[in-house]
Amino acid sequence: MEFEYTCPSLWKGMDDQTREAVFAYGERYKAFLDAGKTERECATTIVEMAHDKGFVDFAEVVKSGHMPAAGTKIVYNHKNKAVVLFVIGERPLEDGLHIVGSHIDAPRLDLKGHPLYEEGELALLKTHYYGGIKKYQWTCMPLALHGLVYTADDTAVNVRFGDEAGDPVLYITDLLPHLGKSQNEKKLAEAITAEQLNAIIGHIPLDDEDCKEPIKAAVLRALHDKYGMVEEDLLLAELELVPAQNAVDVGLDRGLIAAHGHDDRSCTYAALEAMFDTTDIPEHTAVCLFVDKEEIGSVGNTSMSARYFENLLAELFALAGKHDTELSVRRALAASQVLSADVTAALDPTFPEVMDRRNTAFLGKGVSLCKFTGARGKSGSNDANAEFLAELRRVFKHHDVPWQAGELGRVDEGGGGTIAYILAERGAEVVDCGVPMLSMHAPVELVSKADIYFTMRAYRAFFEGVR
Ligand code: MN
Ligand code: MN
Repeated sequence: MEFEYTCPSLWKGMDDQTREAVFAYGERYKAFLDAGKTERECATTIVEMAHDKGFVDFAEVVKSGHMPAAGTKIVYNHKNKAVVLFVIGERPLEDGLHIVGSHIDAPRLDLKGHPLYEEGELALLKTHYYGGIKKYQWTCMPLALHGLVYTADDTAVNVRFGDEAGDPVLYITDLLPHLGKSQNEKKLAEAITAEQLNAIIGHIPLDDEDCKEPIKAAVLRALHDKYGMVEEDLLLAELELVPAQNAVDVGLDRGLIAAHGHDDRSCTYAALEAMFDTTDIPEHTAVCLFVDKEEIGSVGNTSMSARYFENLLAELFALAGKHDTELSVRRALAASQVLSADVTAALDPTFPEVMDRRNTAFLGKGVSLCKFTGARGKSGSNDANAEFLAELRRVFKHHDVPWQAGELGRVDEGGGGTIAYILAERGAEVVDCGVPMLSMHAPVELVSKADIYFTMRAYRAFFEGVR
């Protein structure tokens, strides 16, 4: 029999019950996306959902002075930008954990420290892009402003406007085609530059003869009225521009979802539901890592490279009465299995030339296992071990989870990385395993409802294992 290297579309022959589950999952996922449009909002949403599901705060566990019993569900909020969830398993931690790691940051436009200025009868905000973006994609679309500002009296103010019906939005201009001759001759990457990504936030001047910059002054007055902030507060703030649009269905059949931040919140939500749905006490302790700063290379104290997860493990070993907690952490990580839960590129029929049809993932064919990512000869990649992949295949088969193999484009076409290599460095078995998608890193990206649902099923199978 000839080997079929690509599985059929999951939509074909899908029974009514599964179809219902797929569409219901899509609705819950869209609500999750709309609730958390930044890493901070996403972390807040996750923590709230975990509390609702009976997860207890890590600090409470430490305070108890005892190693939590099997079945205990724990949530840890790391600086409001990353979250770790545990469901304590039957076996000791040193036997290894089953970890699904995703990231909750997404490419976007951050505000500069001195963002606000006035020119050409407009008030504008200067931005500094975050992550790998195609800059021209961020022009001529409604944008929302989200973030955290501290006012002079140390009040934390959550800024969020542009998303609700009737809200005003921000807007970045592009050149009219009539005057676009020189721009059209430029390379795509240079046609809109980073310093041209200036978002309009005001137009009507203050009615004050003596004011030199009356439009800027009017914006500052409005910000003060609404949030109690002054210009200096902007220097310390973390403010992000994201598309104002909420998640929407695409296609007359509603088979797809367009939204900001599918990379990587489609995997984040899948991991979250998978963990919430795992009712039995797992054999190995199940862990969800929701980390920040993946899009800029996993740097900083909220990223996967920071040691907060190891610190939590060390705390647990201290509770378990281990004398050498560092050694126990090393043992636990080296014995762990990790799904690096990140999106991958699916074949786009409009741009098939960047993919190898025999090795690409397709929309609607389920979670994609990428043995390696990287670029130019697998550089920067985690290359998963055959032994681990064989074990995963067994787990997926046991739980009836369809999957496909994918890769991030043709060899030497480009490439990219994930958090996979970081836990691999600690000795864990790691493989990239996530949602195939189109228009990755665009302001609004595209996924299939079948893929996001079956990615959740794959993560649940991984947590449950074969027993
Ligand atoms: Mn990603
Ligand atoms: Mn990305």
